[in-house]
Amino acid sequence: MRRQLVVPAWSLTGILVWCAPLTAQITWNITYADPEGTGFYDPIEGQLRRDSILAATQYLNTVLDGRGTVNIEFRSAPSGAGYLASFGPSQFVIHSNGSFQNGGIYQAARTNTRPFNGVDGKGDFNFSYGWNYVGQSPASNKYDMVSVAIHELVHGVGFLSLTDVQGRGLADRTPGTPDIYAVYDRYLYQGSGSNASALFNTDINSPNYASFVGNSSVFTSGNDPNSGLFFIGPYSKEVYGAAIPLYAPNPYRDGSSVSHVNDTNALMYYSTPPNRVKRLLNYEIAMLLDIGWNVYEWNNTTGNWLDGVSGSNLNVSNSRWRSSSGIVYLNNQWYNRYGFSNPAPVLPPYAQVTSNIVLNFGGSGSTGYTATNDIGSVRLARLNLNSSATAANTITGGSLIFGVNSDGSPSVLAPKVVQHGSGAFIIASDIVVTNTTAGGGWTGLTVEGDGSGRITLSGTISGTGGLTKLGNFLLEISGNSANTFSGTTTVSGGILMLNKTAGQNALGGNLTLASGGTVLLAADHQLPDAGTVRLQGGTLSTGEGVGHSDILGALELASTSTIALTRGQHSLTFTGISGTPSGNLIVSGWSGDIFQPGTEGRVYFSNIGENPNQQYSSFLAAVRFVGFPSGGIFLTTSTAGLYELVPVPEPAGIVAIVAAVGLLFYSLRRWRKHQEEAPSYLTA
Ligand SMILES: [Zn+2]
Repeated sequence: MRRQLVVPAWSLTGILVWCAPLTAQITWNITYADPEGTGFYDPIEGQLRRDSILAATQYLNTVLDGRGTVNIEFRSAPSGAGYLASFGPSQFVIHSNGSFQNGGIYQAARTNTRPFNGVDGKGDFNFSYGWNYVGQSPASNKYDMVSVAIHELVHGVGFLSLTDVQGRGLADRTPGTPDIYAVYDRYLYQGSGSNASALFNTDINSPNYASFVGNSSVFTSGNDPNSGLFFIGPYSKEVYGAAIPLYAPNPYRDGSSVSHVNDTNALMYYSTPPNRVKRLLNYEIAMLLDIGWNVYEWNNTTGNWLDGVSGSNLNVSNSRWRSSSGIVYLNNQWYNRYGFSNPAPVLPPYAQVTSNIVLNFGGSGSTGYTATNDIGSVRLARLNLNSSATAANTITGGSLIFGVNSDGSPSVLAPKVVQHGSGAFIIASDIVVTNTTAGGGWTGLTVEGDGSGRITLSGTISGTGGLTKLGNFLLEISGNSANTFSGTTTVSGGILMLNKTAGQNALGGNLTLASGGTVLLAADHQLPDAGTVRLQGGTLSTGEGVGHSDILGALELASTSTIALTRGQHSLTFTGISGTPSGNLIVSGWSGDIFQPGTEGRVYFSNIGENPNQQYSSFLAAVRFVGFPSGGIFLTTSTAGLYELVPVPEPAGIVAIVAAVGLLFYSLRRWRKHQEEAPSYLTA
């Protein structure tokens, strides 16, 4: 019944039932259009019905982020209606060319403005069915009103198609010419996987932007991987792991086809049995992100995150935040359509409830900007960085809390900082990482991406989570105060440079150095004294040029890995050896003679017992000093319990040395001759 959704037909008689401060999460201004004593004003059940709608909007405020006031209207369905409930957005803007729009609720929530007078969305409930209301246990043969209200309101926030069975949009133009569609429609595909082909022209620089370019048979082809109907958006595909099958029965069902997922467990399935309580699945929340909700783009100028918010006054014109999705007409300006491709201004994030928030920062040119978070602590799941500027941009101010909602549940998107560009970013804000794996979530924050720009984290990183580094760009951890996060740091790609003030820990817990990953010390004493250092294919480097010293936890050799020493007097001291060695420990940059202390960079061990050469013989056999024969040995030092790892002449020598100290001198002499004498001498 999509055409009904935009026709203002119902008179408004009702009251405001709920209001929150303007600058808080989305304010839902709900009007009930029923005559007194009926429907939502039924003397017995009216209050419960209104409370159920209220509960649905309160739930949506845990999913959607916004600061605006939304005006919506409910009423009873007409007698004889064959459906449970309906709801849709209003305020679509019909214009020449084409566009993808989310409608009035989206625009009002994000901008506190609307293109026209009237409500932002409206719908009805069919009270000829039995309903289970908020606070009541599900009863047989009754539908759960809160679940159904959430379903309908999710349609209202833009989870719906505006195409008909032939591919025409709201303006009923000939398929193939630009028309007015939902943002949801831009993610419609025929087929899945490598067979997927887009149903719409989504190139905003094309005069045919927002025209149906597919085959309309897709709308009745079910979910055949070649011919069927799917939704493919970046965030939902990430969460769902594949193209999302949409409801596309044959024959076409007007009002149900296309606008629903074909998943009986999903809230946005086209029908619901009685006695069933549902909430949005993770991938359905991600679909809302795909259509634009909770995604904020910085305008790449210096300013404050709260610009545009002054006390209770909201002025979207002054905001630094933008949206590339769903808003085409605002304050007499056009956006997000052919010829007007600039993203529309939106109000700043609220970011206090859901963490399913994406913040995008770009930039270009030769000067950087500083974006100051004056909101305070904000929740988010994704920080996308994509600058081509030759100067670094800075994000500073209040804390960034990654990947955990205000109720402790995990974000549906994996918490990440993603470097897409060549420009550097300095993130001076404190960062909080949380381990939410007990709730099915995440171990902590991942920093990754295909860009090349350096990322510097100069604030304090705290929390129960860990840090994972992927990608070839350099990630620098700097600042004056120690990081205290307790999860594991895993480096699987590129360089993690530890550059806190000497003596302030850059990492909090264990460290895993996987293949392709390097940890580079840029100052003394960056690693915690107790965290296990698991060498799993990566490189632990003491510096560029002059090396730096550190005391670390136990060393665990999980596969062939490298300790790269450099010039100058410095040392790594491991507190113990953990696990059974696997692969080789390659020590590069060591200088000195076999059985002698190193002359520049040194590797020490403590907490390895009284007789480490015997106890850790298999570890010593796995040691490879570059430029020396295989094997290593622990030398005692002047400090009790502290041993230095140095090279030996040959692996067989180690066992002999342990058995008889006298052999040590023999082997040393023999090895030196090996360096100096002709080969013929050795064969004698
Ligand atoms: Zn529906």
